[in-house]
Amino acid sequence: MKPAKTSPVQIARRGLMLVISSPSGAGKSTIARTLLGIDKNIGLSVSVTTRPRRPSEVEGVHYHFKSVREFERLRDSDALLEWAEVHGNFYGTPREPVEQAMAEGRDMLFDIDWQGAQQLQEKMSADVVSIFVLPPTMTELQSRLHRRAEDSEEVIQTRLANSRAEIAHWREYDYVIVNDDLDTAFDAVQSIVKAERLRRDRRHGMFDFVRGLLEETPSL
Ligand code: ADP
Ligand code: 5GP
Repeated sequence: MKPAKTSPVQIARRGLMLVISSPSGAGKSTIARTLLGIDKNIGLSVSVTTRPRRPSEVEGVHYHFKSVREFERLRDSDALLEWAEVHGNFYGTPREPVEQAMAEGRDMLFDIDWQGAQQLQEKMSADVVSIFVLPPTMTELQSRLHRRAEDSEEVIQTRLANSRAEIAHWREYDYVIVNDDLDTAFDAVQSIVKAERLRRDRRHGMFDFVRGLLEETPSL
């Protein structure tokens, strides 16, 4: 007779807030999208922004696109967990979906800049895991911004001009990845997520599990 199948051990844990930042064009959105496609246990925090929508972007999927007035109303009513002005536009993280995900032990990914990362770190440091993505060279960063072909030349120049100031914040992050080869960079991100999910201090369910383990008396 086959032994009865036991269900896999599930240990309850807190949700993870995975923050990814980089200078524009280094590849954080590509990495984020790949992760969201593969890993169904992680959801995207969809930001609000006053930036004009790019041709490939969909309202509510990539961003919630707002007027400056609407953005200010959200910000002033404390509906944003963090917000910042980046490259001349406002961006912010809606509070409610994040609080709900954390309460339910679901992981969330944040594609936000260093100012937003700092604010989340201050407010929710125990839950935040932060990754900074660097380009292999500044020349490649410039090429990627052009290859993406979604912004005007003027916007690309603003982003390039801001990139050195953004890179200066690399030391504020838990992990730093050089996105030279995309597969290698993505593997690194997956390894980080895997290991961070296993951290003892995130797995409160381990108390009950170990208690049960110690109470068990194996029958011969
Ligand atoms: P970010 O979100 O950091 O602004 P994107 O993810 O939009 O950057 O990437 C910018 C461009 O670079 C996109 O066209 C993307 O396909 C490309 N890209 C991303 N990672 C790599 C890589 N490792 N090698 C070559 N091109 C890349
Ligand atoms: P993009 O216009 O290329 O989508 O984003 C520009 C920058 O704004 C990127 O560095 C991106 O990570 C950042 N960003 C996007 N959403 C938010 C947000 O909600 N808060 C903050 N602080 N930055 C954001």
